[in-house]
Amino acid sequence: MSIPVHTYDAIIVGAGLAGCAAARELQKAGKKVAVLTKLHPLRSHSGAAQGGINAAFSDADSTELHEFDTVKGSDYLADQDVVEFMCQRAPETIRWAERMGAAFSRNTDGTIAQRPFGGQSSPRACFAKDRTGLTLLQTMYEQAFREGVEFWDEWYVADLLYTEGKVYGVAAYNIRNTQKALFNAKAVMFATGGYARAFKINSNAHANTGDGLSLVARHGLPLEDMEFVQFHPSGLSGNGVLISEAARGEGGKLLNSLGERFMEKYAPNAMELASRDVVARAIIQEIREGRGVGPRKDAVYIDLVHLGKEKIMERLPELRDLAITFLGLDMIKEPILISATAHYSMGGIPTDKLGHVRKSNSEFVEGFYAAGECACSSVHGANRLGANSVLEALLFGRFVGKTMVDEVDNIPLHKVTKTDGKAMIDELAWALTNHGQESVPVLREELQQSMTDNAGVFRTEETLIQQMAILENLRQRYQNISIKDKSKVFNTELQEAIEFGHMLDYSLFIVASALNRQESRGAHFREDFPTRDDEQFLKHTMAYMDNNGKITLDYMAVTLGKHEVKARSY
Ligand SMILES: Cc1cc2nc3c(=O)[nH]c(=O)nc-3n(C[C@H](O)[C@H](O)[C@H](O)COP(=O)(O)OP(=O)(O)OC[C@H]3O[C@@H](n4cnc5c(N)ncnc54)[C@H](O)[C@@H]3O)c2cc1C
Repeated sequence: MSIPVHTYDAIIVGAGLAGCAAARELQKAGKKVAVLTKLHPLRSHSGAAQGGINAAFSDADSTELHEFDTVKGSDYLADQDVVEFMCQRAPETIRWAERMGAAFSRNTDGTIAQRPFGGQSSPRACFAKDRTGLTLLQTMYEQAFREGVEFWDEWYVADLLYTEGKVYGVAAYNIRNTQKALFNAKAVMFATGGYARAFKINSNAHANTGDGLSLVARHGLPLEDMEFVQFHPSGLSGNGVLISEAARGEGGKLLNSLGERFMEKYAPNAMELASRDVVARAIIQEIREGRGVGPRKDAVYIDLVHLGKEKIMERLPELRDLAITFLGLDMIKEPILISATAHYSMGGIPTDKLGHVRKSNSEFVEGFYAAGECACSSVHGANRLGANSVLEALLFGRFVGKTMVDEVDNIPLHKVTKTDGKAMIDELAWALTNHGQESVPVLREELQQSMTDNAGVFRTEETLIQQMAILENLRQRYQNISIKDKSKVFNTELQEAIEFGHMLDYSLFIVASALNRQESRGAHFREDFPTRDDEQFLKHTMAYMDNNGKITLDYMAVTLGKHEVKARSY
């Protein structure tokens, strides 16, 4: 077997905000960097972020308040050293992005405008209309490109090169023609984004299939806090396409079938701007109790009519277009239909605040880093606040890139071996030639529907045990798939088959971790254990998978700090 080997100082997988920011830092410091991405960089999900990016720099705000809101929002599971690291560097990171060309929306006096978001003590989200992520991604991609970073667009990373506590590259193939290659480096960073596609109703891009997480887990490395999946309160009814929190930030009201502004019951102070988990549960509760609206009574209204045409066109033009396109409803004239949608992944590849990937609670993997949504540092704990995630991706991408600059020259290059790449070659050959009866789209539909039903906004021991059995059944049937398209050119059926394998693997982690966490905290709500139990569960889940798909659970201490653990109310 001989496939080409490309050697770099550092390899980054993923060209969203985290990947592009890190690549730019490394290249600017004179390191030789390759970014591998299965999409064109500007198609990364970062470009879909609408609402904003947090930084405490107004007179009424402070980084300490930002820290407090983040820790409270996390239901006290966030590691406070990481929260401090992020909140303190946020204002300077906004100015850094601005100097590189990101044009933020302004107040009339020329200062950067900031809008309120859920769970925040002060309007803190900087924005570029409702295209914040795209503006930032274009800027970061442009700047990384300008420095000379080599982008390998439409290359699919199919394996991690790992041996005994050390990562030294990846195995990948070109989606355009299935050409294969090994990428060998002293340092590798994963910035592969989120995994909400495991759920039927979700706000994520088709590419958000969590490949990075399973690639890591298949080598016996842990995944942290996978039970914490964020359900965003406002996805368009029926398909989950996101209506950004900016809609509530600008004054959107939630109404049930009786015309009641029901958040009065659930969060009398913060109302629609309580944290996301609280609002999402309130919406589902109203629907369950028969006060839903729309043809299937499975939605509630968000009413923005009172904002007026001018403000909607100025602040929320993309959101208006989305509701017209997908529902035929114009928010200038009428309320639109929304419900909770799987949106963000708090859990992921465990790292410290500098992005070093953990091998266990106390050991780290040499030469391996992660940042952005695929990482769990854990800055969001059990629930992320709106506009903290674009910040996380950009800021940790940048600073983990800097860490790699400092460390890469001291990491010895472990050369690729003869057997590297074999797992990828075997997997591709299997997917292309397997002659079973099962079809990937059918299995995927079953996975997504059952994850939404059994491991969604509300969970119980019974639904989670049932979901474990469904996953086991799907995993067996996956061995019996066949694909019709045997071509080597842009074979999306092949890619979807491989991605589905990843979805099955990380779904196991979500369900096993949720089953064992017998409490309700942040986004994880157990109807059979409806309260938070700090005595037993103020700790991070660390889960490991063996070769047979069996999950073993361990726990890791939370780094507490000056923000005292309290009851959380809004
Ligand atoms: C609709 C929507 C709106 C949002 N709005 C906001 C907001 O207003 N504010 C906020 O703070 N957060 C928001 N978020 C969340 C935020 O946008 C993301 O968490 C963040 O942008 C993730 O950035 P990232 O760089 O980690 O990953 P991404 O931008 O998702 O990039 C992932 C990259 O990994 C690559 N990749 C993945 N797997 C492979 C593989 N196997 N091989 C090669 N490449 C691979 C992809 O090609 C891609 O380039 C929103 C999310 C969504 C879905």
